[in-house]
Amino acid sequence: MSCQICEKRREKRFCPAIGGRISPQCCGEQREVTLDGPSECVYLQQARDHEKPRPLEQLDTAAMFPRVEIGDQFLYEQEHLLLGLSYSLARSARADRSIRDSDLIAALSSLARSYETLANSGLHYEVPVASLTHQTIAADIQQMVKEYHEAEQKHTGYTRLRDSEVLRALVFLLRMGMTRTSGRLKSRAFIDFLLSQFPGQSSAIAAPDEASRIIVP
Ligand SMILES: [Zn+2]
Repeated sequence: MSCQICEKRREKRFCPAIGGRISPQCCGEQREVTLDGPSECVYLQQARDHEKPRPLEQLDTAAMFPRVEIGDQFLYEQEHLLLGLSYSLARSARADRSIRDSDLIAALSSLARSYETLANSGLHYEVPVASLTHQTIAADIQQMVKEYHEAEQKHTGYTRLRDSEVLRALVFLLRMGMTRTSGRLKSRAFIDFLLSQFPGQSSAIAAPDEASRIIVP
């Protein structure tokens, strides 16, 4: 019995991505690269459990907005914004199964660049977004920011949220994504993490039609 991918090595496991039996080597090399396995695949889950966090040298730190400082105080104060934005990402990923970590990262990166310009110069600058998928993700995030502003307005009579704070929240999520993704082409490690944070379809935190339930500190 040989592996259905290399047709040389012995097959040792069933691969749900190809619906056949493959060798552990091919699984290790091709998962999230050419093999698009479901999140439920136990071998994928085991691999993630054993995968060490990517070392800093492997990360593109220049793409992580190194000048943006994010302290504990910020995370504490903007917890609801961060939850709302995380929920928006999870919602996008749940709505479109073809979305990868790299799509969320690209959309976050474009938006962060727009907000960086806005926070530094007050100028609206829409960073061109590459694909329709990225546009959809970015639009969903912007909608969440808008809802947050509206909820603030409603509860306190004015809006305190500044563009620089949205920028920091976006960069926080971008860094989280870049650290949590496996870096493989089809990786959904970051997405599965987000989905595990919001298991139900309708989250009480910030479901789209429940913007008023966003708790403003
Ligand atoms: Zn093989």
